[in-house]
Amino acid sequence: MNFEYTDKVKGLIEQLKTFMDDHIYPLEPDYLAWVSNHENDWKNWPPMEDLKEKAKAAGLWNLFLPANYGDLSPGLSNLEYAPLAEEMGKVQWSPEVFNCAAPDTGNMEVLAKYGSDADKEKWLKPLMNGDIRSAFLMTEPLVASSDATNIETSIVLEGDEYVINGRKWWSSGIMDPRCAVTIVMGKTDPNAPRHSQQSMILVPKDAEGMEILRPLPVFGNVDSPHGHGEVLLTNVRVPKENLLLGEGRGFEIAQGRLGPGRIHHCMRLIGMAQRSLELMCKRVAEREAFGRYIKDFSSIRQAIAKSRCEIDQARLLVLSAADMMDKQGSKGAKELIAMIKIVTPMMTQKVTDRAIQAHGGMGVSNDTPIAGYWVTARTIRLADGPDEVHMHQLGRLTVKEHTS
Ligand SMILES: Cc1cc2nc3c(=O)[nH]c(=O)nc-3n(C[C@H](O)[C@H](O)[C@H](O)COP(=O)(O)OP(=O)(O)OC[C@H]3O[C@@H](n4cnc5c(N)ncnc54)[C@H](O)[C@@H]3O)c2cc1C
Repeated sequence: MNFEYTDKVKGLIEQLKTFMDDHIYPLEPDYLAWVSNHENDWKNWPPMEDLKEKAKAAGLWNLFLPANYGDLSPGLSNLEYAPLAEEMGKVQWSPEVFNCAAPDTGNMEVLAKYGSDADKEKWLKPLMNGDIRSAFLMTEPLVASSDATNIETSIVLEGDEYVINGRKWWSSGIMDPRCAVTIVMGKTDPNAPRHSQQSMILVPKDAEGMEILRPLPVFGNVDSPHGHGEVLLTNVRVPKENLLLGEGRGFEIAQGRLGPGRIHHCMRLIGMAQRSLELMCKRVAEREAFGRYIKDFSSIRQAIAKSRCEIDQARLLVLSAADMMDKQGSKGAKELIAMIKIVTPMMTQKVTDRAIQAHGGMGVSNDTPIAGYWVTARTIRLADGPDEVHMHQLGRLTVKEHTS
């Protein structure tokens, strides 16, 4: 495995870092002040659209899309995208500036792979342009959704339309005023074999019968402007052409969507852990307690050394998964994807926890981004499959490998 970056990627990393230094880091306090004021809930942060135009003009746009999509994507491999996503991860709202934010990225990949020409024109084009946003509705409050075969939402064909009924929650991004389209997972045939019951269908957010019941807070914060909604779908009717790929193919789409989604989360988490380490080093080098700099206490040096080792270990594992995805696709890389999804959020949770401790009280405040990183790492241990589900599958595959 050769993880040496090509000249093209080295150039993009430099360009991205310069963009972040010039346009993103200086605005971190402004963004925080805006989202902390509840009068601004569910409104778009004013500088965002201007920043997006700047990023687009600089060619730092849709960097996540592996295939080449004309002028709107440079067509990077997963391995090439990894260091760029790591940089973006350092400021949690910055992926949106480069049109690289979840859940749009996964939804764009689904539309690019499985959408009809009409779907692409209507939804993919404006998503790739950054004109609209989207949401992905799989998880349901009434069933254990880490087992997606439990999903109960019904999708029933009536004439030329599908009729959808169900209740979803944790629909990230649905509160955003720019969210225009959702991808809903449900069952078209509850009597089919277990993994052929589910389908995915495009539902406009303003479809009649789609009702947002409430935004769900994450550790007390509603994550405006994107939010995570609880959504009721009552007799929602959409044209039958909105069904993606075909009835019973929902699992196939979910697997294709979640592979890239998981690795992108991990790449950004490495960035969060790396910046936490950098901030921790700076802080302990400038504060004194009990007659010495905090950096000179053995326990602090151990925290720093352990964090550095763990970040590098996770980064190499993520690069290895990216390399495997480039060579063998999400299916071929499924064990490595499970491994990084187990290792990386936990690593970031540990590193950010140490960085919080080393900052003292400041660490749990919003004066650094570290507390926000901790929250993200903790929630990603649930989102896109809880740790235990990945361990359950990886354990099963590992036993199989050594016994068959
Ligand atoms: C911030 C956030 C954003 C999210 N965004 C989205 C989104 O945009 N769209 C969407 O559809 N969903 C989203 N989710 C939902 C997320 O994917 C689910 O919460 C997750 O899949 C778990 O499903 P569940 O909550 O129903 O937990 P359950 O399925 O009820 O599981 C609860 C717990 O049971 C245990 N468990 C389950 N299976 C096993 C096993 N095999 N072995 C051992 N223990 C096990 C685990 O500890 C697990 O955490 C989001 C969640 C969060 C927190």
